[in-house]
Amino acid sequence: MIACPCEVCHSADARDKRLRTSVLIEVEGKNFVIDTGPDFREQMLKANVLRLDAVLFTHEHRDHIAGLDDIRSYNYVQEKPMDIYAEDRVIRAIKQEFAYVFAKDKYPGIPEVNLHQIENHSFEIEGIPILPIRVMHLKLPLLGFRIDDFTYITDANYILDAEKEKIKGLKYLVVNGLRREKHVSHYTLSEALALIQELKPNHAFITHISHQMGFHKDVQAELPPNVTLAYDGLVLDI
Ligand SMILES: [Zn+2]
Ligand SMILES: [Zn+2]
Ligand SMILES: [Zn+2]
Repeated sequence: MIACPCEVCHSADARDKRLRTSVLIEVEGKNFVIDTGPDFREQMLKANVLRLDAVLFTHEHRDHIAGLDDIRSYNYVQEKPMDIYAEDRVIRAIKQEFAYVFAKDKYPGIPEVNLHQIENHSFEIEGIPILPIRVMHLKLPLLGFRIDDFTYITDANYILDAEKEKIKGLKYLVVNGLRREKHVSHYTLSEALALIQELKPNHAFITHISHQMGFHKDVQAELPPNVTLAYDGLVLDI
């Protein structure tokens, strides 16, 4: 965190250097990202992502959409608009936040997007089936996504039983766990662990981690063997 004097923010361990939450999914030769936060550009450069086929958005908070402008490089290289998948409310927020992208009289070189409105029903991107999972972020309904046996859920602190049914007993679950202390709109570490116990994935990963969680090595040492505290650059080969 900017201007934070705490030990975690000044840790020498690379796993304590946390950029904003996002994931790159490579499936059948296609690359998708879920969310483009303020660190999107740095993340794409670090991971050397030479091609991006689509962006899926969970919700419209700044830490999940602010980096959208930088898709312009993919527009340039791939010579086409970027396919964006989001709910109606999120699309409206993106149109407001990035009004210049949707202006009638456009300045040359600005990002080009092809918007696809989704709902809480399965859909396909490039023939790959995606199953949305409705989760709650305090009072804001947002979407997690299941692709095959992998599910990604960020910024949630409540999930209805019917939605949990969609992801019971899957292989890999990524779920947010912000810190140890109670939070109004995110699962805490213990709440995330309780959800993992209930859903019983083979392996779970905790993401959207605050500096208030503590050092990676200390937290990881406390976790059950099937739970990993995620870190930037973590690669999962499924
Ligand atoms: Zn700090
Ligand atoms: Zn949020
Ligand atoms: Zn967030």
